[in-house]
Amino acid sequence: MRAAYIAKTLAALRVPPNLADEAALRRQFSWDTERRELAGLPGGGLNIAHEAVDRHAQGERREHTALRLLAADGSRHDFSYEQLRRLSNRFANVLTGLGIGRGDRLFVLCGRRLELYLAVLGGFKIGAVVSPLFSAFGPEPIATRIRLGQGKILVTTESLFRRKVASVVADMPSLRHTLLIGDDGHPTDAPGTLDLAGLMADAVDDFDIIPTTDDDPALLHFTSGTTGTPKGALHVHGAVLTHYVTGKYALDLHPQDIYWCTADPGWVTGTSYGIIAPLLHGVTSVVDAAEFDAEHWYRILQDERVSIWYTAPTAIRMLMKAGPELARRYCFPSLRFVASVGEPLNPEAVWWGADVLGLPVHDNWWQTETGGIMIANTVAMPIKPGSMGKPLPGVEACIVRRNADGSVAVLHEPDTVGELALKRGWPSMFRGYLGQEERYRKCFSGELYLTGDLARCDADGYYWFVGRVDDVIKSSGHLIGPFEVESALMEHPAVAEAAVIGMPDETVGEVVKAFVSLKRGFEASDLLRAELLGYARKRLGAAVAPKEIAFSSALPRTRSGKIMRRLPKARELGLPEGDLSTLEDGA
Ligand code: ATP
Ligand code: MG
Repeated sequence: MRAAYIAKTLAALRVPPNLADEAALRRQFSWDTERRELAGLPGGGLNIAHEAVDRHAQGERREHTALRLLAADGSRHDFSYEQLRRLSNRFANVLTGLGIGRGDRLFVLCGRRLELYLAVLGGFKIGAVVSPLFSAFGPEPIATRIRLGQGKILVTTESLFRRKVASVVADMPSLRHTLLIGDDGHPTDAPGTLDLAGLMADAVDDFDIIPTTDDDPALLHFTSGTTGTPKGALHVHGAVLTHYVTGKYALDLHPQDIYWCTADPGWVTGTSYGIIAPLLHGVTSVVDAAEFDAEHWYRILQDERVSIWYTAPTAIRMLMKAGPELARRYCFPSLRFVASVGEPLNPEAVWWGADVLGLPVHDNWWQTETGGIMIANTVAMPIKPGSMGKPLPGVEACIVRRNADGSVAVLHEPDTVGELALKRGWPSMFRGYLGQEERYRKCFSGELYLTGDLARCDADGYYWFVGRVDDVIKSSGHLIGPFEVESALMEHPAVAEAAVIGMPDETVGEVVKAFVSLKRGFEASDLLRAELLGYARKRLGAAVAPKEIAFSSALPRTRSGKIMRRLPKARELGLPEGDLSTLEDGA
């Protein structure tokens, strides 16, 4: 049995942490004080691209590598802060030349390549609202999002345009321009489009950033669609303060770090922490164009000497599935901090980090709506595996119950399960759901933002994820969080992943059913099923343990890597499958 606690000592940390004593910082924290560390625009105002790129390009980090792009063909391309400044200025000039400006919606649909980063930064510079889309989306999800977001301009590649956009152009009447990235470096000539490389070549390197303010919209991000149709969350330039502060305290970024965030900018993590936060801290940010491959990922961690790694539970589970022998062929002496977000991080995964990488994985929690990390296991803090950590300084969290009359009661008693709520006031709070004002209003009760997640807070102030409000299972009067059951199953050596749902039952309300995928070398059988049922009963007790287990070679997940529990549930119950635009291929 593993310990319930991973202690840390400051002396054991290789770099003095930005956050050594979180209780002390919490007492004295003020967003205004932190804000003084941002530069602000020369003539007043705040712009994400200026903070992320230009101010470094004007200072001592001018020639430091900002982005290290690992292309799909194995080549490696470095871009300094100064190069990024000039190239994003060119991009801004291209956009301005086309009549795109403040408030216009700019969509980007391409893989993780230079142009994506330039479009996002150039878009910020002109005051446009940028929305990066995941390049694996099909024509329908692309058109729906651009239509909903009133996209005025789209940046994409020639092949993506031909395969996915050309057929739905008529469904996107707001679109004025499509800028194409030529597939092989040659000018593109698809009808109704413009060749980006040609326009970039003609543009100049200087650009005066539009004087945006804290409240000017900057980003439009669609949620993962785990619980239903994805929502478009709007974020402002002022969010950059959260990105800065969380980069400092939750990810412990120091200027000498080599940092790798594995998320695609099509999801909020890939923008907030794959583009903005690392650049704000002047680090070298590794960007890998390829998709997940266990061997390739271990090699990046080793060969690029990654010191800070931000990834997702699904990726960690896939590495676990690939087996420890593979990991042992690599070594990671530069790695000093590993964090994860997006889904509950099972205690097994935290320990896997300690065993295989030499560092436990630090879970943190946030949402598209919060724009940045809110609850975290920080570098110097003891970890309780299975807990999301504590609210960061500047973030006030609590557990609440929604009453039938619409009022909300704060539950102060430790370990009471309720909805996780956050007090308004952190700078990256979303400012609206696109086209859904009523839904946005309903997320708030007075000063509290209600997250839609269930959690509990223990006596030490650590938060524990229980499940989505919609996913919680009610069985014989018990409230069962799927995460607890899934984590228990994952402790069995045969189990790679588990998804747990409630199945309607006349006697007890709902019974727990688990879908399980197995690790390499294990075969599904009735014997194994019986063993797993018994194992779970012993760990969880009969009231909480699954009554049924189904084996599945892969669990359905969103493109951002979250298990989509609503899909097996709909399939089991013969209900409509709902919006599947974010479902990963082959699920
Ligand atoms: P949708 O809102 O469309 O259903 P989504 O909520 O999955 O999709 P995101 O904003 O990408 O979209 O994900 C945020 C959610 O992910 C959180 O509300 C929470 O349920 C889950 N999550 C994120 N981090 C963690 C974590 N560390 N532990 C548990 N759950 C997490
Ligand atoms: Mg959500």
